[in-house]
Amino acid sequence: MTRAVFLDRDGTLNVEKEYLRDPAELELIPGVPEALNRLQDAGFKLFIVTNQSGIGRGYYTLEDMHRVNTHLTGLLALHGVRFEKIYFAPEAPEAPSRGRKPSPQFLFDARDEFGLDLAQSYMIGDKLIDLECGWNAGVKQSILVRTGYGAKIELESGDKLGRAIVVSDVAEAANVILHLTNAPSLPPEDREALFRTMEGKRWTWRDKFIYAPNNTIWFHGSRPWQGDLNEFHDIMAKRLEKLPKYRSYYSTAEQYQRVFDDTAGLVAILKQLIDAKK
Ligand SMILES: [Mg+2]
Repeated sequence: MTRAVFLDRDGTLNVEKEYLRDPAELELIPGVPEALNRLQDAGFKLFIVTNQSGIGRGYYTLEDMHRVNTHLTGLLALHGVRFEKIYFAPEAPEAPSRGRKPSPQFLFDARDEFGLDLAQSYMIGDKLIDLECGWNAGVKQSILVRTGYGAKIELESGDKLGRAIVVSDVAEAANVILHLTNAPSLPPEDREALFRTMEGKRWTWRDKFIYAPNNTIWFHGSRPWQGDLNEFHDIMAKRLEKLPKYRSYYSTAEQYQRVFDDTAGLVAILKQLIDAKK
């Protein structure tokens, strides 16, 4: 089955400019072409899913939007990036719409037209509606980028982010996706048990974990762990009492980045953490 990555447009692929209508004003967010290229090379089909209420509100026309889209896909095509399809909802927010996010309709359409496995697919965006669209469609993971409105959403709606992973930008999202795709996934019952252990005052869904080989669970906090790492390991040992076969490690964003870069980096960091624990 084919896997896909669904991407929001404004604030995710290109810099948010409030009702962008002029292609000349379009500005790609750094790292986007390379990231999409990597996802494509890994076999992901790429789609844009965009709400364009500016059309329904009368701020710009359908043609304006198509011109912006053509310019965007043209720029990305220079890097070898190809989108299968662009889904757009032109209606104003209060108007009835078949596919306006958070509706999962366009993802279902894409599934039916391209034979996609949504459970192995991802949604990336800078707003809550993007995450919800992914959840409503049953994707493997919704990812919030801090570009566009994302940083504001993280700050103001942290309690609504659910199981979303929060990353800096599409480049980091690609790292996460490629890692999640390659790493063995946690058995569902263990995943649920682990989620339960993470609930509480100190922990929120914003501290995400990635299951890596050798029964090691990596925690990727939305912020680096501020305290002592030994303290972290002690807390986690208690949390994981019911899951004795797992070891846990917390990584800062920087360490985590290195994990994705090479296996040797992973081994080196593990060793470093084990040494620190001794
Ligand atoms: Mg957006």
